[in-house]
Amino acid sequence: MASVTGAEKIPFRRSIQLKFALTYIIIIAAVLILLNTYPVLVSQDLVFRSKTSLLQSQASVIADTIARTESLTSEAVRDYVEPLGYTGQFRVLVTDEFGLILYDSDELRFTEGRYAMLSEVVTALKGYDVATCSYQDGAFHSRAAVPVIYRDMTIGCVYLYERDADQGGLLTDIQNNLRSISLVICVVVLIMSVVFSKALTRRIGDLLRAIRIVREGEYSHRVSIRGSDELSQLAGEFNQLTDRLQTTEEVRRRFVSDASHELKTPLASIRLLTDSILQTDGMDLDTVKDFVSDIGEEAERLTRISEKLLTLTRMDSAVPMERLPVDVAAVVEKVEHMLLPLAQERDITVEADLQSGCVVKATEDDLYQIAFNLMENAVKYNVNGGRVMVGLRSMGDLVLLTVEDTGVGIPDEDLPKIFDRFYRVDKARSRAAGGTGLGLSIVRDTARQHGGAVTVRRREEGGTCFQVAFPRWDEEGGDLL
Ligand code: ADP
Repeated sequence: MASVTGAEKIPFRRSIQLKFALTYIIIIAAVLILLNTYPVLVSQDLVFRSKTSLLQSQASVIADTIARTESLTSEAVRDYVEPLGYTGQFRVLVTDEFGLILYDSDELRFTEGRYAMLSEVVTALKGYDVATCSYQDGAFHSRAAVPVIYRDMTIGCVYLYERDADQGGLLTDIQNNLRSISLVICVVVLIMSVVFSKALTRRIGDLLRAIRIVREGEYSHRVSIRGSDELSQLAGEFNQLTDRLQTTEEVRRRFVSDASHELKTPLASIRLLTDSILQTDGMDLDTVKDFVSDIGEEAERLTRISEKLLTLTRMDSAVPMERLPVDVAAVVEKVEHMLLPLAQERDITVEADLQSGCVVKATEDDLYQIAFNLMENAVKYNVNGGRVMVGLRSMGDLVLLTVEDTGVGIPDEDLPKIFDRFYRVDKARSRAAGGTGLGLSIVRDTARQHGGAVTVRRREEGGTCFQVAFPRWDEEGGDLL
């Protein structure tokens, strides 16, 4: 396991775990507060309404009955009220117009002869009906007072009071049950929030650790993927990214080691040749000239390798060049002209069948690189007296550049690898021909940069056929692909 540096531990108060748990708790607290208040308030309100209207109507019945008596006396009121049968349900008080209690249904009757100092009574004596209800100590307390009116004059008031502990008990039970349910929900939610937030943060932590390990350079590290949620997707994407990073890193390492190896070989030759000249006393002039010319060749080889490496590096840095419509036939003709001396040296004929109007959007230099590398290879790896056939034609939306030769050919097993940097089928032959093993990778990368693709196949008749397909540029429509 790689050691991970720079892994700052996030304090709990800033952790996603706390945020997650807090969100859960706040939501559930709001829900529970609502659950514990709303139903209770609604049922209270319903009871209040029914109680006040019932009590008020009963008080009115009593007041209407009393109003028939000519003079309000304690006896007369009792005679009227008691037969109505309300006294068992409510406490009934009847006062005269000054609030003096004439009748009290309470068995002790200790209020009779006193003044009723109740706000409801005062309001009723002013001529208004009044009814109130409240919930206290587990019981509903309802009060109603109505004036007793005789010939449009208030001659007294009827006051009813009821204490209902049964319905109050029901409401208390509902409240208690809701409280117990809330407590259970609270505990369950708390446990769930802790479990979920821990699981979530553990998975995020795994991912974070993996990122840090990869950052430290251990590209082979992967995160294990569990489930199929967004975090699993993230882990999958991370693994794919790391795959690419690993591949890129391997390619880079191989390239650097190949490049230094390629540069070391000519340098070692130069060193050897100079040592020989310096250490051999009295070396004759012809041998010295031979050695110096060999040194020159190796230096040329170094120049070629570094030029090609520079081209590849420029392409890797991908600074986009301005692409213009280029006539491919004109570029191929230039290359043909350039290679003619090399071909003639070995009696190789170059045949070109170029269709006019094959225009692609690229840079002339890049097209030159592609055509030159392919055609130079066709000459380099040809037999003496062989042929090179270059074809250019447009087909549908494509421009096809074909370079065929009658040369040594490439074995089937090497075909997939020849575009790799520094890959050479026959090292000695490539070396002898001044090859660097970089030409075809330059061709492939350059073609790709302009939306093209290179393919290679063995010719039935012997030799090799390379084909580059580019998107055709059209004067009216621009790029056709
Ligand atoms: P080099 O500089 O060695 O020519 P390239 O990248 O251009 O490098 O080619 C890679 C290898 O592919 C060559 O070394 C050679 O072995 C093989 N090759 C390329 N083109 C041809 C061809 N037309 N015929 C035979 N072999 C070829």
